[in-house]
Amino acid sequence: MSSQTRSNALFAEALKYIPGGVNSPVRVFRAVGGQPFFAQRAEGARVWDVDGNEYIDYVCTWGPAILGHAHPKIIAVVKAAAGRGTSFGIPNPLEVKMARLICGLVPSIQKVRLCNSGTEACMSAIRLARGFTRRDQIVKFDGCYHGHADSLLVKAGSGALTFGHPDSAGVPADFAKHTIVLPFNDADAVKAAFAANKNGIAAIIVEPVPGNAGLYLPKPGYLEFLREITKANGALLIFDEVMTGFRLAPGGAQERFGISPDLTCLGKIIGGGLPVGAFGGRADVMDCLAPVGPVYQAGTLSGNPLAMAAGIAALEELNRPKSKLQGPKSKRAMNDAYSRLEKLGAQLETGMRDAAKAAHVPVRFNRCGSMFCAYFTAGPVWNLADAMKSDRDRFKQFFHGMLAAGIYLAPSPFEAGFISTAHTAADIGRTVRAAADVLRRH
Ligand SMILES: *Cc1c(COP(=O)(O)O)cnc(C)c1O
Repeated sequence: MSSQTRSNALFAEALKYIPGGVNSPVRVFRAVGGQPFFAQRAEGARVWDVDGNEYIDYVCTWGPAILGHAHPKIIAVVKAAAGRGTSFGIPNPLEVKMARLICGLVPSIQKVRLCNSGTEACMSAIRLARGFTRRDQIVKFDGCYHGHADSLLVKAGSGALTFGHPDSAGVPADFAKHTIVLPFNDADAVKAAFAANKNGIAAIIVEPVPGNAGLYLPKPGYLEFLREITKANGALLIFDEVMTGFRLAPGGAQERFGISPDLTCLGKIIGGGLPVGAFGGRADVMDCLAPVGPVYQAGTLSGNPLAMAAGIAALEELNRPKSKLQGPKSKRAMNDAYSRLEKLGAQLETGMRDAAKAAHVPVRFNRCGSMFCAYFTAGPVWNLADAMKSDRDRFKQFFHGMLAAGIYLAPSPFEAGFISTAHTAADIGRTVRAAADVLRRH
């Protein structure tokens, strides 16, 4: 095992000043044992720690780094924007460009409000849905994470699961009682909730492809069902696409699955690695926001020029057409980035399944585009209860085996992995060979 001397010293120092030594709980290695390494720098699909160890990175800063780290175009626009001022608190042209880009790319978004994190986006979308419908109840699903706002921090996925608190302390029961938590992929549970709460449910909020308890997919027809039942009951459908937005397709999961939600939450990729969030959707709903309507939402740094510049560069790069010769129709579906991500994802899936089979280790490898999760269980994984069957000791062993081979996976069995356009077929090949090796030793 490579040296971790400097990382360990930094972690000891961090523990003195930062609770648990980290500024977001998922970064510690509690679920896998050991201590986190400290990043020195990152470029493309690689990250280097302060002890000089190099890793192929499948965490990709938990999703945002879809173009890999330190993309030259993003670095250039951020430098240029910083030279003009880091924050104005006055409308700036980049906000308009970003909003126009988002509305053009995400099919259901007619108007959008920019904020500073995915948490803010989801919290604000819920408030907006409640204000618009004049109802209090919301429905969320077991294992879905929508940020750490009070009413959404109920049965909320990896961070909470890893540390054994399904719910957070400090959330008054009076707030949590307005949140109905149901199992994912279970239509009957949703029907029963609507039957029991006539005219009470403001919205369903859902990760269309849940990626915060590993990764599982919606069963065929399930998202269509959620669309229908919300509409029939005067409730809004909110897609939390903070993770899936601009990752599963240029227009996110809603484009991939052909569903039109009323509101969409965004974050991660639209910041190009800087802090950002956004929520948008139907114009009549969005116009309930202040200063037009009665639902208050605000932010000193919202629409920050550095974040806008980075995010615009990321979206433009992701949607760069393959070649000028292509016709306009094929341009969006066949652009370089998404077909590349799909191909790399398929290579990893095939390789991982073969490796597990050869080693006779029960692995459920779930994948959607460039998102993936390897569960150490024999059965299919369609919801949180299935995900929880994943063997934690086997994952621990797998995680450390891969880390020793220079491959960094998220340090929890309940996290999705991410592939970037900077990963190469050779990187995936090396990853699969390492996995075959590690699994053989199980
Ligand atoms: C990451 C994430 C959030 C929270 O975003 P932050 O920027 O970390 O606040 C919300 N929803 C989903 C689906 C996420 O993956």
